[in-house]
Amino acid sequence: MAKRDFYEILGISKGASDDEIKKAYRKQAIKYHPDKNPDDKSAEDKFKEAAEAYEVLSDANKRQRYDQYGHAGVGGAAGGGGGFQGGGMNMDDIFSQFGDIFGDSFFGGRSRSGGGGGRRMNRGTNLRIKVKLNLQDIANGAEKKIKVNKMVACNTCSGSGAKGTAFDTCKACNGQGVVSRVTQTILGAMQTQSTCSACSGEGKIIKDKCNTCHGDGVVRGEETITINMPAGVADGMQLSMSGKGNAAVRGGVNGDLLIVVEEEEHTELKRDGVNLFYDCYVNFADAALGTSVEVPLVEGKAKIKIEPGTQSGKVLRLKGKGVPEINSYGRGDLLVNINVWTPQSLSSDEKKALELLRTSKNFQPNPNRKDKGFFERMKEYFD
Ligand SMILES: [Zn+2]
Ligand SMILES: [Zn+2]
Repeated sequence: MAKRDFYEILGISKGASDDEIKKAYRKQAIKYHPDKNPDDKSAEDKFKEAAEAYEVLSDANKRQRYDQYGHAGVGGAAGGGGGFQGGGMNMDDIFSQFGDIFGDSFFGGRSRSGGGGGRRMNRGTNLRIKVKLNLQDIANGAEKKIKVNKMVACNTCSGSGAKGTAFDTCKACNGQGVVSRVTQTILGAMQTQSTCSACSGEGKIIKDKCNTCHGDGVVRGEETITINMPAGVADGMQLSMSGKGNAAVRGGVNGDLLIVVEEEEHTELKRDGVNLFYDCYVNFADAALGTSVEVPLVEGKAKIKIEPGTQSGKVLRLKGKGVPEINSYGRGDLLVNINVWTPQSLSSDEKKALELLRTSKNFQPNPNRKDKGFFERMKEYFD
């Protein structure tokens, strides 16, 4: 399922004000709220979709990134496959967001993961994987298809854990998932609620367990997941894909997939943030007479001119040939450090030729030369 445009989801224009965004979301959230649409999967998807759109568009920073880079810009490493994948929102996140939108009273601070408030929904555990990216992937952004070993819903029982529809309502809690207890305190009788231990809060008990998954509703399996890595990521960064982690026992909410970036070193280009560095060697004659040399880029090569009389240590800056800045418009440069190669072995003819030049006036170093010395160059680097 391709992700829809966030503005389109909320039915607003690109220039919508914060207030318009809030209003539009409130309308959608009420329309598709799970309490109003019980067991309606498409309403639930729309509900989540709207929440994700709001989560991004209500945050000035995220909105700007989204406007510029689309879904990839807001950490929503989304890809193929069905269902909801997004910037890391699950039902709990959505309901906790409602405080700002409706005021706490509106949906009564409803929580789906329970605790005291009713039947508990199981949640799958998060899964962490590493994704290797080379410099080209980082410069351009990359779509990676990764086979992930994880817990998936059991096919035999569709994740219910039961043979057929063989469920009994839990007798211990009458299907409520929680048990109430009255305790006497100095303030009088107090009622406390706790998760039912007989059914682990699920409210029901399997009569006849599925043979494949032995009642868990999940089995070990694998899924090929398409991950869109935004350009400009760096080693150690973590992205998350909501709902792509382990499936929950007996049909709960999936955990998240956490993707950790592992950066492969380039053989010739070194990266420092958004800038790239290249060490370029030219021979002594080329440095004196001038020449042009090829330098590697992230993609392809560039020819650069070496002016006659170029000193070792000169840095040439290729604007915009670095790496894009993540979540921003900027792009770094490629800095080419020129090294003049001093020959390390010489034939007798070469020695004779150099002996002639050794005492020549133009060959004497001039520390007061016009082009910048080491300290000025360093200052330029770090400014
Ligand atoms: Zn129970
Ligand atoms: Zn099963």
